[in-house]
Formats: sequence, structure tokens, C-alpha cells
Amino acid sequence: SLTAGIVGLPNVGKSTLFNAITKAGALAANYPFATIDPNVGIVEVPDERLQKLTEMVTPKKTVPTGFEFTDIAGIVKGASKGEGLGNKFLAHIREVDAICQVVRAFDDDNITHVSGKIDPIDDIEVINMELIFADLESIDRRLPRLEKMAKQKDKDAMAEAALLTKIKEGLENDMPASAIDFTDDEKKAVKGLHLLTFKPKLYVANVAEDDLADLDNNEYLAAINEYAAKDGAEVIVISARVEEEIATLEDDEKEMFLEELGLAESGLDKLVRASYDMLGLATYFTAGEQEVRAWTFKKGMTAPECAGIIHTDFQKGFIRAETVAYEDLMNAGNMVKAREAGKVRLEGKEYLMKDGDVVHFRFNV
Ligand code: GDP
Repeated sequence: SLTAGIVGLPNVGKSTLFNAITKAGALAANYPFATIDPNVGIVEVPDERLQKLTEMVTPKKTVPTGFEFTDIAGIVKGASKGEGLGNKFLAHIREVDAICQVVRAFDDDNITHVSGKIDPIDDIEVINMELIFADLESIDRRLPRLEKMAKQKDKDAMAEAALLTKIKEGLENDMPASAIDFTDDEKKAVKGLHLLTFKPKLYVANVAEDDLADLDNNEYLAAINEYAAKDGAEVIVISARVEEEIATLEDDEKEMFLEELGLAESGLDKLVRASYDMLGLATYFTAGEQEVRAWTFKKGMTAPECAGIIHTDFQKGFIRAETVAYEDLMNAGNMVKAREAGKVRLEGKEYLMKDGDVVHFRFNV
């Protein structure tokens, strides 16, 4: 499954946030997935549609879908040169599918900052530059051999060498690969390079508890938002300390606590949702008397591929998917009425699953 890596300089609140994630994951009832890797935390993907479907179908059991975060400790200035846990850090970040960069946006004289002052933009740039350096290094390792092959008129090598040179020029001008203009074909090739600066990214601004109810009061957020907008990245505002508290609360207590804080949703829920979107993930549902359940798929997956998420046999023996859009099902009131209204479709092997599809797979065993 896809995972988002949590990165950030020391003392910005990463561990506090990751603690909140593992606590929330441990509390989730009915949670079907376990993890043995201490650096991985899985949380429920909040989705009110699952609750509504449960009320409609009244199954024995309701199972949410999960999202996986990976804690990546150890980046410091100079990581790409092997400082700190440097190379190990970069190897870990290479394995994740997206990056959540935690940025310190709270003052606290008791908690030192690695650079001696709170400057979120400076912090963001330290990390982004390390990622750029790391990508430059991998390109520099690859390019000489390609250029040699290109001299022998190897067409593929010529194309790749040209592409790498283009990326290198961007990186040398402090541009992450994600900010470089690529054609659709180039984009496909760039994906195969597994560059760190091509991964989808968002910023997590960690603000003081007291600022949550009045974000205008925070002197750092405006700059972070402005920087992220240029970067084409989203900013999720949280207070890691508050999230750690929320993560231990049951649903009704959690609602009350959020209300007191004047929040519609916890920061962690916002973060999960944004990370899910950033990775192009979506949810389909199965809804039977035994179990109503949410399943994660990647947009662009076909019905048989989605069936394969439940069980490989469902994909191998796939016949068709009886599908109704969540909205249509809700409007009809129940499955029987949705069927009568002609809203239940029979979809075949080519069907691209849509977010919110409520599905029953038919398959040969
Ligand atoms: P890490 O090094 O990035 O993992 O940072 P930690 O999560 O260990 O946090 C460093 C220190 O900052 C700890 O003492 C945290 O309790 C504190 N901290 C984290 N988030 C907040 C916050 O929202 N407000 C305040 N005042 N302190 C925080």
C-alpha cells in the first residue's frame, strides 16, 4: 500500500505527531490491519459515508479503510553529504510515495531550535535543498554512462540523457523536479527515476495550542502559506500536542473536545484526507448484511483490479461489478429501490472505478 513519510528538522514536533498517529491507530475499533514496523502507523480514513451506509444497511460489522504514515527521523542540514543519519534518511525517503514535511510554527523558549531561531521558511528550504542535492547526486551518477551510450547513437540513451540534463539544470537553479515543465511522455520517464523532489508533498504547520482557535494570531502561517502556494503544495495546520490528546479520546469525547476548540475536524483527520488526495487515492464500498466496508484504490484502477484488492481470486474470476453510486443509493433510500430506479449498473472488465461506488463483485471460483 502507498505510504506518506513524515519528515522535518529536529524539534519541530514530528515524534509528537507520529505518537498521535500510532495512538489513534491503536484505538481504532475493528481495524483489520496491523503493523509490526515501529516506524509505520496506520490510521482510519475519516469518511462519513461509511457511517451513513452503516445506518442504511445495519450490518454486523463496519470496517473503515486505513492510511499508512512512515516516520522518517534524522534529517539535518548536510544530510545529502552524509551528516547525521544522512544517507539512511535519504534511503527511507526514497521508499515513501509522498512527503509530509512538518514545520515548526510555535514559539517555546524551553524547546531549542536547531538553527537557534524559529524561521519556518528557512527550515523548509534546508530540507528542500537536501532533497535537491540528493537528486543531483543520483543524476550525476547516471549521466556519464548515458552520455557515452548516446555518443554511440543509442536512441534511448540520447533521450534519457537529454531528460536528465534538463532536470539537472532545474535542480541547479534550486527547482525541485516537481516544478519543472515536462511533456506527458517525459513525466512518465521522470516517474521511473524515483527522484525525491518529484514526490507529491505537503506541509504540516505545527502551531501552538493557543493559536488553533485563532490562526490569524500565528506570526508564521502567512509566510508558510505563501511559500507553499509557490511550491504548489497544500498546508495542513495542526497542533501536534493537541493531536496527541485527541488521539486517546473516544468518538463522542473527541467531538466535544473539538467543539470546545472551535474545530470542525481534527488536524490528523485533515492530514489523512489531504495525504490520501495527494496520492490520488479514492474509496469504494462493499455493503452486505455481514459487513459494510471501505476499500482504498488508486484512481484509474479498473473494476477487476479493485476486486483484486479484496482477494486475488475476485480478480482472476471477475465476471462483472454491480455498482451504484453512493449518492444514488442514498437518494433511493436502499438497494432494492436503487435497483428499481435503474441506478444499479452492471459494469465489465474495462470499467474504471469511481470514488463512492458501492459495489458487489460477481466472480467465478
Ligand atoms: P521532533 O524532534 O521533530 O520529533 O520533535 P518532538 O515531537 O520530539 O517535539 C519537540 C518538542 O516540542 C517536544 O518537547 C514537544 O513536546 C514540543 N512540541 C511539539 N509540538 C508542540 C506544540 O504544538 N506546542 C508546543 N508548545 N510544543 C510542542
